[in-house]
Amino acid sequence: MPDPALIARRLTVSSRLVVATGNPGKVREISALLEGVDVELVTQKELGVEDAVEDGLSFAENSLIKARHAARITGLPALADDSGIVVDALAGAPGIRSARYAGEDASDAQNNAKLLATLKAMPDAPRTARFFCAAVYVAFADDPCPIIAQASWEGEIIDTARGTNGFGYDPLFLIQGDTRTSAQLAPQDKNKVSHRAKAVRALIAELKPRLL
Ligand code: IMP
Repeated sequence: MPDPALIARRLTVSSRLVVATGNPGKVREISALLEGVDVELVTQKELGVEDAVEDGLSFAENSLIKARHAARITGLPALADDSGIVVDALAGAPGIRSARYAGEDASDAQNNAKLLATLKAMPDAPRTARFFCAAVYVAFADDPCPIIAQASWEGEIIDTARGTNGFGYDPLFLIQGDTRTSAQLAPQDKNKVSHRAKAVRALIAELKPRLL
C-alpha cells in the first residue's frame, strides 16, 4: 500500500512530469499547452529512457504503454501521447504506424512520399483522413486510474505538399473547412485546434482537480 503522503506529494502541481516522447515537434506543442500549469516538464530522452515497445492495437493502448514505461523507469508521473494519421481509404493506415509507415527509421519525407504513392494508385478512393491523438497521464507506473483523453482533427490528403510549419504529415493534411494544410498554420494556431491540442487540453482539465 503506497504511503498516502507520498501520493499527495507526487500529485502536487509543482511536480516534475516526464513526457514520454523524444519527438521535438510534440514536446514543443505539449509544453506550449502546459503553459500556466505549474509542472516542470522533462523529456524521457533527457532522463536516458529508451523508447517503450509499442505493441498495442490502438493509440490509447500505445499511449498507456508509453506512459507506464516512462513512469516505471523514472519514478515520476508521466504524460504520453500517441498520435498519427488515419486515412479512410487505407482502412485506417498509417494509423498507429504513422511514424514508421515507410520503415523503422523512416523520415517524415519518406513517410509522406509513401502515403502519396499509395493514394496515387487509388485515384477514385476518397481522400478523407484525420489526425488522432490519445493523451495519457499516470501518477505511477501501475496507476489503476490513468487519465485517457482522445481527440481527432478532420481533413483530407492532398497530392502536393504545402507549407513548412509543423512536422510529419502536416504538409499533406488539408484541414476540413479551411483552404490551408496544417503545415500552413502558425504554430500557435495549430495548437488551438489540433488533435493533440484538444486531447492534451481535455487531459489537463481532468488532471487539475487531482492536483488541488
Ligand atoms: P508516435 O510518436 O508514435 O505518436 O507517432 C506519431 C507520428 O504520427 C508522427 O511521427 C507523425 O508522423 C504523425 N503525426 C502525429 N501528429 C502529427 C501532427 O500533428 N502533424 C503531423 N504528423 C503527425
